[in-house]
Amino acid sequence: MKSSALTFPFLVLALLAASCGGAQPSEPVKTAAQAFAAIDGNAVLEHTKMLSQDAFEGRAPGTKGEDFTVAYIVDQFRKAGLKPAGPDGTFIQKVPLYGITPDPQVSLTFAKGNLVQSLKFKDDFVAWTKHISDTAELKDSEMVFVGYGVQAPEFSWDDYKGADLRGKTLVMLIGDPPVPDPANPGQLDPKVFGGSAMTYYGRWTYKYEIGAKVGAAGILIVHETEPAGYPFSVVQNKITEQFDLIAPDRNMSRASVEGWISLDQAKKLFALAGKDFDALKKEAVTRTFKPVPLGVDASITIRNSVRTIISRNVAGEVEGSDRKLKQEYVVYTAHWDHLGIGPEVNGDKIYHGAQDNATGIGGLIELARAYVSMSPRPKRSILFLAVTAEEQGLLGSQYYASNPLHPLAKTLADINMDVLNVYGRTHDMTIVGLGNSELDDYAQQVAAEQGRVIKPDPTPEKGSYYRSDHFPFAKLGVPALASGSGIDYVGKPPDYGRKIKEEFTAHIYHQPADMVRPDWDMSGAVLDLQFYGLVGYRVAQADRYPAWKAGSEFKLIRENQLKAAGNR
Ligand SMILES: [Zn+2]
Repeated sequence: MKSSALTFPFLVLALLAASCGGAQPSEPVKTAAQAFAAIDGNAVLEHTKMLSQDAFEGRAPGTKGEDFTVAYIVDQFRKAGLKPAGPDGTFIQKVPLYGITPDPQVSLTFAKGNLVQSLKFKDDFVAWTKHISDTAELKDSEMVFVGYGVQAPEFSWDDYKGADLRGKTLVMLIGDPPVPDPANPGQLDPKVFGGSAMTYYGRWTYKYEIGAKVGAAGILIVHETEPAGYPFSVVQNKITEQFDLIAPDRNMSRASVEGWISLDQAKKLFALAGKDFDALKKEAVTRTFKPVPLGVDASITIRNSVRTIISRNVAGEVEGSDRKLKQEYVVYTAHWDHLGIGPEVNGDKIYHGAQDNATGIGGLIELARAYVSMSPRPKRSILFLAVTAEEQGLLGSQYYASNPLHPLAKTLADINMDVLNVYGRTHDMTIVGLGNSELDDYAQQVAAEQGRVIKPDPTPEKGSYYRSDHFPFAKLGVPALASGSGIDYVGKPPDYGRKIKEEFTAHIYHQPADMVRPDWDMSGAVLDLQFYGLVGYRVAQADRYPAWKAGSEFKLIRENQLKAAGNR
């Protein structure tokens, strides 16, 4: 049904009137501990039900679902007693996005003299342009294999060796270079590229960034399931409308064409070039690797339809109680968006996103209520940020980090919540990227006080640290904490947690089935929210800023940022 201008405000008012019981700020309580102890799991559940119901249509940016969601969060922030933190005295930070829908009638060819390899869109490759333009092309662009395409001075690694790659089309491998450990050749060297954990150099976003930096016209990544962390079908989903931030240069500094090719087609390409793919892939794991011209030219013409939308981050704050320190911030983030309406599965095409991430927004609102109820309030200010377009590539948080409402040099930390635990209390808590920063030390303390233990991410090779809204903060220097609920459930058999995670990944994650269930147990979410609350509170009270630990790829960025701002 098409929405009319009239139905929207009425429906929202009706929804707001029906909204949960915890709508008034609670009575002031004295201490932080008491405030967090009063967090109500039922209130989190009610927010989650509200945001994941059919009327919100899966909360896709640029839809009626966004209007409902933003109106609801604004209303709840106001009722919780937060101060508007947006630039014009509202709770809204506008996030301009453009959407590109590629025309599927596109073909990619690799030519060597009269020999031509034609690749079929979606089956063999996907490609797009980030240029804000109706069209982009490669015309007989020379192809060069650049191995993993990595330039990492801290590991004395440079796959480019100063080669002139301007206007050329680069073929790159996905993942970090898998450097074997000289002491133990069956394993990866823990001193280089994080050993078995993925560093940012392994992510596809890095590959396109560095390719543009060396002036390439085209960048094609060879897909391989294991190092990517997901199958080719995930890449093939990129053929519907894709959103991105609007850069001042209309993204013209990016390569004209970005894309992926299947492993089969990559092998065919190397055969066409008279090269041995497996041999060159081996060479790419050495520091002596140099770019290899393939003697093959790539051609493609991309046509787009483009539209611009204004999406919204919702921002509210609790002002700090210290006259001077209140200009400094601890930020809590959670994304409000989900996938909207998509392919029908078991008769449902609304992607409700109850766990991902209506629970995180419910938690954000209730944490806000807890902070407001404290007396005295924390010395530093606390910013609550519900961000848009996480599912589109962390766009809302990236926009915030590039256009912060308060300087990043005065932002002590970001604590991100993405999917809360709805299965009951756990003995443990997982930290993604454990050992990155001193936030982990606060986390260890708080967990110990809760009688819990901190455990590292069980699947570091998936690069989860780079895959939610804390990352844009980390990338620009701000220490950021990403945790997941534990897997060791109180009173449950030892394999219960693992079973639940597997069930979630296989049948619920990013499916219409991500809905509120009658058997949910919010006691685990409450425990985790108390944990997030206490960690953030201690950072807000601390004598000094939390730092990145030695060996973190973000340490130098932060040190330079604080130095430039004169607040070391
Ligand atoms: Zn999420």
